[in-house]
Amino acid sequence: MSGVPLRRLHPLSGGIWIATSRRWRTTSTVVLGPNREALLVDPAWTPDELEGLAADLAALRVDLVAAASTHGHYDHVLWHRALAEVPRWGSAATASQARRGWPAMLAELGPGYPLSLYAERPPVGALTQDVVPWRGPEVRAIVTDAHQAGHTSYWIPRERVLLAGDLLSDVEVPLLADGDVAGRAYRDGLARLAPFVRRARLVVPGHGSPTAAGTTRLGQDLRWLDAIDSGTPPTDDPRTAEPDNRAEWDRQLALRS
Ligand SMILES: [Zn+2]
Repeated sequence: MSGVPLRRLHPLSGGIWIATSRRWRTTSTVVLGPNREALLVDPAWTPDELEGLAADLAALRVDLVAAASTHGHYDHVLWHRALAEVPRWGSAATASQARRGWPAMLAELGPGYPLSLYAERPPVGALTQDVVPWRGPEVRAIVTDAHQAGHTSYWIPRERVLLAGDLLSDVEVPLLADGDVAGRAYRDGLARLAPFVRRARLVVPGHGSPTAAGTTRLGQDLRWLDAIDSGTPPTDDPRTAEPDNRAEWDRQLALRS
């Protein structure tokens, strides 16, 4: 779109661009609207990567006009002063988690993330309707309690793209919300998403690779939950090669015992 080389963003499909962080392969998504306006979902993660997103939006000559977060964990509510100060949206739970959680979240992020630079402004507002308020293509919020209370996936009907948040990942196994020890809220969340997954041309997880085989990812997440229920590790889940995911298996089993 312009002569300036992009640092991070690359086109995914139609008017959707994504970038993948070095940390946990976290996905940032840009949805282009009319008049070169853009919506940014889950900008992540490191300061140089956040600056890179701002630089890429400038290189593409698009105006950031709105943003949304899939949930209130720190890797999904980051911001940077190089990004325009625009309305940011999330579920009511996400808005309150972001408001209350910053001191602890920034402590987890470690040095280099002063509140004033990366988090304080603009605040995350609570969606009062099930679509993100902006002039671009419809972006519908699907709020569940899988992974974290008020976790929100975003469905873009025009593109048939589902921004899944921290579900349906090829690198992260299902991480259950606090208190969802038996995984019921997670299963309910997957059930809510299932019709959108079936219709999706592409499922874009918050960590890992986009896929045209969303139903395969859905089946893999369900089998992981089944495996935890039975206490027998899944044999066909490549995510178990990752030490953090094996540790998560042990942690979830211990919570149930
Ligand atoms: Zn995450």
